[in-house]
Amino acid sequence: MLILDTTLRDGEQTPGLSLTPEKKLMIARKLDEVGVNIIEAGSACTSAGERAAIKVIANEGLKAEIASFARILPADVQAALDADVNRVCLVAPASDLHISQKLKKTREQVLELTAKCIELAKSGGAKTELLAEDGSRTATGELLVHFSNGISAGADRVCVCDTVGVLNPEATSEMFTALVKKLKVPVAFHGHNDFGLAVANSLAAYRAGAGELHCTVNGLGERAGNAPLEEIALVLNYFYGVKTIELTKLYELSRLVETLTGIRSGNNKPLVGANAFTHESGIHVDGILKCASTYEPVSPEMIGRVRRFSFGKHSGRQGLKLRAKELGVELNEEQLAKVAEKVKELGDKGREVSDAELQVILMDVLGSPNKPRIRLDEMVAVTGSSVVPTASVKVTMNDITYTMSGTGDGPVDAALNAIEAIVGNKGISLSEYAVDAITGGSDALVHVRVKLKMGDKEVSSASAGTDIVVTSVQAVLKGINLLI
Ligand code: MN
Repeated sequence: MLILDTTLRDGEQTPGLSLTPEKKLMIARKLDEVGVNIIEAGSACTSAGERAAIKVIANEGLKAEIASFARILPADVQAALDADVNRVCLVAPASDLHISQKLKKTREQVLELTAKCIELAKSGGAKTELLAEDGSRTATGELLVHFSNGISAGADRVCVCDTVGVLNPEATSEMFTALVKKLKVPVAFHGHNDFGLAVANSLAAYRAGAGELHCTVNGLGERAGNAPLEEIALVLNYFYGVKTIELTKLYELSRLVETLTGIRSGNNKPLVGANAFTHESGIHVDGILKCASTYEPVSPEMIGRVRRFSFGKHSGRQGLKLRAKELGVELNEEQLAKVAEKVKELGDKGREVSDAELQVILMDVLGSPNKPRIRLDEMVAVTGSSVVPTASVKVTMNDITYTMSGTGDGPVDAALNAIEAIVGNKGISLSEYAVDAITGGSDALVHVRVKLKMGDKEVSSASAGTDIVVTSVQAVLKGINLLI
């Protein structure tokens, strides 16, 4: 099974995408490294810059065949030849709709031009793959005439383009079975994903005898895109044991294309999306830890990825315990329960808990005394543009409840002043106060570090949370627990 990658041509037709020659070369090198058979490097007629980029790729000494796209215009074919490619992907409209409405020509004229262009490519030393544009909406009889005409002129491969993605697997199968039986050259399939069937149709084409499949990395392309290379390669291998490209480099290739194009794959995109091998729910993580295939179709290593656990409101304790261990901390059951509670608290706010946040939570939990002598029962802070920041706190210290309010330079200062008023007679003072935002965004987890002094004794403590005022108070109370 031959793989033609058209990331650099059809993929580049993704709305808003334009790749510089340097980026095209980087992607071409990686495509060659993973082993695609044909790289459609661009459309030489587009511009002088595009021609130059194709020429550089064609002269890079890659193992893959390098192709340029061309319309049935001698100037297009000449531009491809000038770019030194060894293959021309010649696209000729095949459906009545495209021939009459787009090209405003007759079928006879199309056949004549097609033959002329193939002969020109041949005389220039390039092979030709003849593409039937809108082939999926062309009667099979017409397709046979279209292709036979091209093969007589010298085309050594032909391709049915499902230009607007309207085929289904049954229709694809029927069409390919008929074409493959009658034609003596490999028949390729070029699938678009408008109905989400590009991969299913490509598989149907393969089962019916197609010899080559067209695809793009990450499924880039016009509208809903083309058949994704990574999915085609993996499913051919998974279901039929067909070897095409080097699967273990697929993720690397996908990331490179994502980085260079700036077009992000959706999180739930098969195989290469951020969540494709990420597990959060406690039940799944527990299963994965016992045996990975419980909740994974294939191992992430198969395409060069690693498994990831994410932490949030669905997290279970086993996953957290494992991640904490990977971060260097062995948690006992009591600590684990506290960590799980804090993670779920953040998760309930619609957040995924990052490693940095988990580390802060671990630090927070491990630093907490088991039976605090002073604890926060209630707190209200009021602030605004024309009010004096005021805070009221209710704390229990040595089993006695105290209520106090304070004002200050902002709500944190007001709350800390109220606490100070409660513990003031103990001679405790705040000597240092610092806040770090662990993540970006206004819902960031903050890490508050404080130093407290009582006589010549100084302690430092810290707390983490999403509310800066409450977290500050908790950091101070934790320090006070260490002092009294
Ligand atoms: Mn296309």
